[in-house]
Formats: sequence, C-alpha cells, structure tokens
Amino acid sequence: MNEFELIQYFFTRSACAQGGENISLGIGDDCALLQIPAGQSCAVSTDTLVSGIHFPDNAPAFLLGQRALAVAVSDLAAMGATPIGFTLAITLPQIDVDWLQAFSAGLSAMALSCGITLVGGDTTRGPLTIGVTVMGAVSARQAMLRSGAQVGDLLCVSGPLGAAAAAVPLVLGQVDEHSMADDTAEQLLAAYWSPQPQLKLGQYLLGQASAALDISDGLLADCGHIAKASHVCLQIQQTQVPLASAALKLLGAEAALHCALSGGDDYHLAFTIAAHAVEPLQQHFPEVQVIGQVVSGAGVQVVNDQGQAIAFERLGYQHFE
Ligand code: ADP
Ligand code: MG
Repeated sequence: MNEFELIQYFFTRSACAQGGENISLGIGDDCALLQIPAGQSCAVSTDTLVSGIHFPDNAPAFLLGQRALAVAVSDLAAMGATPIGFTLAITLPQIDVDWLQAFSAGLSAMALSCGITLVGGDTTRGPLTIGVTVMGAVSARQAMLRSGAQVGDLLCVSGPLGAAAAAVPLVLGQVDEHSMADDTAEQLLAAYWSPQPQLKLGQYLLGQASAALDISDGLLADCGHIAKASHVCLQIQQTQVPLASAALKLLGAEAALHCALSGGDDYHLAFTIAAHAVEPLQQHFPEVQVIGQVVSGAGVQVVNDQGQAIAFERLGYQHFE
C-alpha cells in the first residue's frame, strides 16, 4: 500500500471525512476550502502528540484517535467556537493496516460526537506523531479570551476534576485494571482516553463568561494563565473543588485533590463569570460548580473555609518516558 492508497482507505473514505457544514471542499486538492459564517472569525488551534512523550508507545490506536482529536477540539470549546473542520498531520513508523483501521475509527467516533469534519492533512514516515489542527467559527467580539476576568467575578469549573491524572498509572500499565473490583478503572480510563470537549457549554458561555480556558495542565497552572492575562488573582476555595468520584475512590481525598489541582488532562473548562449569571447557567449545566472568586492581586491562591491560604506543591508534568 502506498501513501495515496493509505490516505484514501483510512482518511478520505473514513466516516469523519464525510459531509459537514461550511465545507466547500474537503480532502483531495492542494487546500480545503471552509466557509466562515458572515461576521464571525476562524478560530484555529493545533495540538501535537508524540509517542513516548504524550502517550505510551503501545497505546491502543482507537483510543489514541479519539484522544488526539478531543484535546484539540477542547480548545475550540474554550473559546466558545463552533467546530467546522480539522486537518491531521500523521507521522507513522510503518504502514500497519490494523492500527490505521482502529485509529481512523477512533478519530471518526470523536469527530462525529463533536460535529467536526476531516478536511485534509499530511502523511509522513518516522516516529509516531499525531498533529491535529482544528478550525471553527466564533464572533471575535464574543470569543472567550484569558484576559477578561474582572475583580468580583466568580470562578467556575465545568465538572469534576482529577480522573484523567488518577488514570495515568493504569494507562502506563503500572496498575492492573482488572485488580479493581467495580467500574472505577473503566471510569478513569474513559476520562483519560475520551475526554468530552465542553462545546455546548463553551457556546452557551459566549457573551457571559469574562474569561475561559480548558484545563489541560491542571487547575492551578491553568488558572494561573487567566490570572496573568487578566492582571488579577484567582482565589480557589479548596473545599469547593469538585473531585471525580473514581479518583476519590481509588486515591482518597488528599491525593484526588492533588490530581485535580496539579494533575492535568481533564479538558473541563475553567471560567470567570458575573455572580448573577451563575444560577441560570447551573440550571442548564448542573455540573458547573463555583470554586472561587476573582480578587485584586496576582497569581492563584488556594484557601480553606476560613479564607486562610494553603500552600500546594506543584506536581511535575506527566511524561511517558
Ligand atoms: P500535497 O502534496 O499537495 O501536500 P498530499 O499528497 O500530501 O498533497 O495529500 C493529498 C491530499 O490528501 C491533500 O488534500 C491532503 O490534505 C490529504 N491528506 C494527506 N494526508 C492526510 C491525512 N493524514 N488525513 C487527511 N487528509 C490527508
Ligand atoms: Mg502534503
């Protein structure tokens, strides 16, 4: 099978490359052509996953396809953008038909659930590397930047945190998933391999949230980005941080909190919003939880119920070396 046949079989004909709104031309020519609805801007973001660094060498191909797309689409969600299309730059060590079949199926499953279409890419030979560029549409006036947080706003997250970080020993095969009795392992692995980009919430927050981002590096690090860009301090109430039940079950409260604050890979949204907007929001999105507030100052502060600052050591980044 040559490069052109490979592209045909596993990408051009895959479910994720069919149809799609706002796509004038998909795979096959020198460029794809996308329509951006009048008055909107094109939101673009790229993520690259390198084997042995961002995922283990023996990662299941289906799950890898899902995850590679999910982490990229999550950036569209964080801006409030509506997905249109994505490109895939894939570097493969060899042509492994079973692997490609499974990868393409995982990619298609996530693409379908996000409403995004594969419109092009590049295929090369070398150490396994997956680069995904996503494109969507959003009003430049309403897009949620990191720089808009206002003193007095509340700080929210879109759901329970910590499961993806708690899953890392399972992902690495350091812990046997079959040694866990109930569905704890399943829940943790699902959080790691198929995070669900918060697209509906992101679009709902347009014109409401003053700042937003997706939590990829851990709550503390990512809130630090909002604090820095907005020239404010984000104060997090430790007891309000929602912890994923599977992480709690596996690790207990203290370690689960550590995963939530410093572990990363959750791909929930963190955002700041005026206090009066929170209740109506929670009626539509009951998983949204207020975890703190925006105060004057700089950086991120974790406080206890008495408002006293708590020191937290940052966990190192997770690498699969
Ligand atoms: P060019 O030489 O013009 O860059 P290529 O031969 O690399 O074109 O690719 C031919 C077509 O196939 C292009 O439309 C390109 O976008 C698409 N393509 C190549 N690799 C992939 C891939 N991994 N996934 C989706 N489309 C791809
Ligand atoms: Mg090319």
